[in-house]
Order: sequence, then structure tokens, then C-alpha cells
Amino acid sequence: MALPIVAVVGRPNVGKSTLVNRLAGERDAIVHDEPGVTRDRTYRPAFWQDREFLVVDTGGLVFDDDSDFLPLIRQQAEVALQEATAAIFVVDGQAGPTALDYDIAAWLRQLPVPVLVAVNKCESRQMGQVQAAEFWSLGLGEPYPISSIHGSGTGELLDQLITYLPAGETLPEAPQIQVAIAGRPNVGKSSLLNALIGSDRAIVSPISGTTRDAIDTVIEHHGTQYRFIDTAGIRKRGHVAYGPEMFSVHRAFKAIHRSDVVLLVLDALEEITEQDQRLAGHIADQGRACVLIVNKWDAVPEKDTYTMNTYRDRLYQRLNFLDWAEALFVSAHTGQRLDKIFAAVDAAVEQHRRRVSTAVVNEVIQEALRWHTPPATRQGRQGKIYYATQVATQPPTFALFINDAKLFKDNYRRYIEGQIRQQLGFRGTPIRLLWRSKK
Ligand code: GDP
Ligand code: GDP
Repeated sequence: MALPIVAVVGRPNVGKSTLVNRLAGERDAIVHDEPGVTRDRTYRPAFWQDREFLVVDTGGLVFDDDSDFLPLIRQQAEVALQEATAAIFVVDGQAGPTALDYDIAAWLRQLPVPVLVAVNKCESRQMGQVQAAEFWSLGLGEPYPISSIHGSGTGELLDQLITYLPAGETLPEAPQIQVAIAGRPNVGKSSLLNALIGSDRAIVSPISGTTRDAIDTVIEHHGTQYRFIDTAGIRKRGHVAYGPEMFSVHRAFKAIHRSDVVLLVLDALEEITEQDQRLAGHIADQGRACVLIVNKWDAVPEKDTYTMNTYRDRLYQRLNFLDWAEALFVSAHTGQRLDKIFAAVDAAVEQHRRRVSTAVVNEVIQEALRWHTPPATRQGRQGKIYYATQVATQPPTFALFINDAKLFKDNYRRYIEGQIRQQLGFRGTPIRLLWRSKK
């Protein structure tokens, strides 16, 4: 069966060949003798997940900045795109949209092939989201910030790309949520993991992580797979001698990095320490969803109706950058409220991936402005928010296009963030605001 073809198009110097090299890796170019695959184009085999395809670099198609498309060049490009199942339109995020990009976009829009906009040279994650947002104006749907040199962002691009390619033989995988269990030594991480496994008969693993030596544990619960990341150290406990490096902060940070959501486990019998705060800060910085698990609740003496609320208040006070996270009071020993953990994880992940329409975001911003305008300077200069839009998920990230960042002080920025939370929720996930001045 002929493999689907993915054409990479764009003006010169945006990074098309760098992207093709990244997608195809070391695999050799092939000169195809199938009908329809012609002449001077080079086809390189590539794959993503279970899908194989050929990438063709239309590098020979020169779109000169000074001239319009020459008809001949355009015809050649058209031939390349005719046999393509999908196209990747590469643009330069550092340069922003150019007149030629708009021309190419207009031309692509009238072709029947689905097009993905790859905004290249976005090395910085935060800036990349802002840079990419500018390419919505091409009218080709969501722009994907990537760096062909570093490889960042290409995963999301490819995830979307393969939805346009014919399905392979393999069955679709069950949805999987990556969970990191983090916490100081002795808070009860291993007891908790064992209790969670015990409550679910359908344990799939332990299986090796695909890329490194870490051992993950996968549990299936109500049709969703939960991959507990790097549980080697946690599970071995009690059976095998282990060194303190098993609980190194470095290792915890690595697990957090791979996760969608972190269970931050705390010991109800102990004060919240600096180490807890450090982990909490890291989770927020990394933009991961989080559920706070206060373990050993069974051992808290003389509980009354206020105990939990008092503890919760103190918890959010000490871990104030996680004040958006749900806190569950559980016992790994008695099993109390353990059943709530999966539901809390699902809810946090859903919010982490949630996308709000631009219309709704702007309604919230307008309303916030009506209640409380940005304070003016003594010279009478006033901060203005022209427009806001959600530019990313995981975590939800909003770009606010403003006249001058200097006119927005921290307390006003916190006010806007608070309004977004109050109106739109996002419980369980951090959110990010990018304040973008007009030049
Ligand atoms: P093409 O003409 O579209 O095929 O572009 P190339 O792949 O030859 O790249 C053009 C230039 O952009 C080269 O100098 C690359 O090193 C640079 N470039 C390509 N990808 C990236 C990227 O992701 N980030 C940055 N900063 N530069 C890139
Ligand atoms: P880890 O180092 O975070 O993996 O912690 P462990 O799971 O090894 O637990 C440390 C200690 O706390 C052990 O002595 C456990 O028996 C105890 N422990 C764990 N969970 C609970 C709980 O829910 N209630 C009580 N009372 N003790 C617990």
C-alpha cells in the first residue's frame, strides 16, 4: 500500500528542511517509482505512533519575497500538494506573519488538502505561544508553536497531523493519564500506591517506561488508564534495600516533568515543611495539574467538624501557589476516601486540557475592566486591554494584548487572574497569563 504523503510548504528560510530532517530522522531519502511520485522531489519516510508516511520538502518551490508566485512555480507546488494527504505550512515565529505568508495561506485555503500551520523558531515555550497566536490571522486554524532545531512542540503537531492520515491496523489506545506521586519520605506514597492498586483488580503492569529505565505502573480504572510514573522506588519499598537517592528531589522533578497531574502527598500528622513547599512550587512552575493528598487522616486524634477545615486553611496558606488544587483527606491504611482520588485526578486533567472560546474570555475581561479599570499614572496614562485569547492548554494559557506592560502592576495582574478563575473555574490546574504590549 502506498504511504500517505505529507507536503511541507512555506517561504524560504523558515526552516522547512530542518523540520523535514527532524521528522524523518536518519532515514534515507527514497526515490520512488510509484506512479504519481515524480521527478525531483525527495520523499523521506517518517512515522509517528503507529502511522507511517512520506514527507516531501517542497524546498525547490521558491516563493520569492519580491514577486508574486510565478505561475510555473505555483503549478509545481500544486502538483506536489495534489498527491499529498496533508500539508504542513511552515512559518517563522520570530519574524511574524509576512505578506508572502498571507499569499501562500490564501492559495492553500482553496486547495482541498488539510493544512497545519507550524510556527517555527519558537524556542521559548511562553513566547512561542504568543508568537504562534499571531498566525491565527492566516485563517488556517490553530497555529502550532514548534522549534525544528530543538524538536519542541513537534509532538503536538504530529498528533494532529496523523488524524488526517489513513488509520493503521492497530486499535486505538485507551486514553491514558500520566500521574506522578510526589512527597517527602514517609508521608505514605508507597502505602497509597499499593492501596490504589489493591482496590483495582485490573492491573496492567509494571511495565518498562519506553524511553528510560524508570518503571511505571499502569492501572485501569473505569476504562481509563492511569500511568503512575517512576514507581520503581516507591514499589520496591519494604522488599529491597534502597538508598536515599530513591527519593531524591531530582527524581521527583523528573517524574513531575513527565506527568499530566501530580498527587502531592502530605502527612496529616506533620507540619508542612520547606520541602513540601519546594515540590509545590515546582508543580506550579511546571504547569502541571495537581491534587493534594493529606494522608494518615485515620491517625489524627480527636477530630471534630472543624479539624478538616482548619487543616485545609493552613494547608492553602502554606502552599499558597497551589490554592487552586483540590485537597483530599485520606488514609492509605483504612482506605478512607481513596475512591475520590481517581475522580479528582480526572477533574483536574479535564480542566488542564480545557479550552475556552475567545468570545467568552473577552466577556470575562470586559466585565473585569468594568468593575475595576487599570489605575492611571500621574501623567494620566491608562492601561488598556484590547483583546484576550486562550493560546494554549496544559496548562490553560491566556494572551492579553495590551497597550503597555508597564501600566499593569502585579496587583492588577493578580486581579485579572482572580477574575478569570472566579468566572471560568479551572480548579485543579494552574493557569498562565501572558501580557503582550503593542510595539
Ligand atoms: P528552509 O529554507 O525553509 O528549508 O529553511 P532551513 O531549514 O534551511 O532553515 C533556515 C534557517 O533557519 C537556518 O539558518 C536554520 O538554522 C534556521 N532554523 C530552522 N529551524 C529553526 C528553529 O527551530 N529555530 C531557529 N532559531 N532557527 C531555525
Ligand atoms: P513513603 O516513604 O512516602 O513511601 O511512605 P510509606 O508508604 O512507606 O509510609 C511511611 C510510614 O507511614 C509507614 O510506617 C506506614 O505504615 C505509615 N503510613 C502510611 N500511610 C498511612 C496511613 O494512611 N495512616 C497511618 N496511620 N499510617 C500510614
